[in-house]
Amino acid sequence: MYTVSNALKAVLDHVPIPGSERVPLVESLGRVLLESIVVPEDVPAFSKATMDGFAISADDVAGIGGYVPPSGLLRLRVVDSIVAGRISSRRLNSQEAMQIMTGAPIPQNCACVVPVERVQVDVPDPEWVGVPVSQMSSGLNILTAGAIARRGEVLLKGGIHLRPAQIGAMAELGIVDVLVSRRPTVSIVSTGSELVPSGASPGPGQIRNSIQPMLTAQSLTAGALPQVLGICDDDPKHLRLKILEGLQADVLVMTGGVSVGIRDLVPEQLLLAGVKRVFHGVWMKPGKPVWFGVFRSDSHTCLVFGLPGNPVSSLACFELFVRPALGRFLGLADPVPCTAVLSQRCQVRGDRPVYQPVVLSGGNGTLEAQPVSWTNSADLLAMVTANGFACLEPEHGAYDEGDAVEVLPWGIGNW
Ligand code: AMP
Ligand code: MG
Repeated sequence: MYTVSNALKAVLDHVPIPGSERVPLVESLGRVLLESIVVPEDVPAFSKATMDGFAISADDVAGIGGYVPPSGLLRLRVVDSIVAGRISSRRLNSQEAMQIMTGAPIPQNCACVVPVERVQVDVPDPEWVGVPVSQMSSGLNILTAGAIARRGEVLLKGGIHLRPAQIGAMAELGIVDVLVSRRPTVSIVSTGSELVPSGASPGPGQIRNSIQPMLTAQSLTAGALPQVLGICDDDPKHLRLKILEGLQADVLVMTGGVSVGIRDLVPEQLLLAGVKRVFHGVWMKPGKPVWFGVFRSDSHTCLVFGLPGNPVSSLACFELFVRPALGRFLGLADPVPCTAVLSQRCQVRGDRPVYQPVVLSGGNGTLEAQPVSWTNSADLLAMVTANGFACLEPEHGAYDEGDAVEVLPWGIGNW
């Protein structure tokens, strides 16, 4: 039987190279940039004030203005007021100042801006301002055109995972759309004659379909586009139809019906639909019956997962296999193993690696894993405090508090 790492490798080996599409800027969030972004114009495009204050002429800054009284204050006439978005039509001459606000274009012949906090405004006559000569220094509080970036420089290289700040930076450059990796579509089919939609009241012996909303949410956080195909009863014909519909997506995730019960019909129906099995069963707990295969047609590849119907098994199999596959579709780097320190003793029961739900918290640079008590793989309610799995190896024997364990944080934030 496959180990988790062999199974993951087999899954990732079957992910096709990411598709690309050009999308409006905001829709690029969480995708991989597939082109370089070149700065189309100098930034900033014009020289501007970086403080609220007074624009001083180059003549006065150079000391051409003449007499400086013993107070050290040069009395200048305020000849204009420039707010951001406005350009002064005047040239700034010696003995003059202009009131100027942060971000406003500096006037012609301005050499510096002295912050408002540093000047003395003549209260009875606000047309005059006293500016300490000591505060006048060429270039002070001015951001010159092109100081941040020059036209033609590369701002972003292809291959990076786009985050909000990069979207803002591209917006500043007037970029309205970008070439990025395509989001994979994920069809979700819940199998089980006992299932009713989670909003319905279960009849005798029936249960609510808790997995479908969970997988939908997991797919969204993995950056994929979930397509909910509803519940399918354990009937070969019905399963066949749902499978054919689901194979249109990049990924088909089916839940339930992959184990050894007399109503576990999913593997057989997948094979009949032309899906090639890669593995059935992985040496792990929970999630051992997981099924994976690939469907190929002339134009299309669909990765097919059959996840066990117990909700915690589904949750684990999605995090271990489906999420990394969706990441590959998006062109993201594969998850890297990470280690945490167990915060209490932990027993490993059985002979398979146990994916123990834990609360991961990072205090002083050390990730800590607090095991969550859970009954079995049907116990989804016990997962509400957990945010990851710790992998407990049976060969290790009992784990002590402080032992290092490999952990898998439940992914959030690829969208
Ligand atoms: P199965 O894998 O079909 O044998 O299902 C294993 C267990 O998980 C059974 O108790 C099912 O009732 C339960 N189960 C299957 N699918 C779901 C689902 N979508 N939501 C909640 N429980 C489920
Ligand atoms: Mg079933």
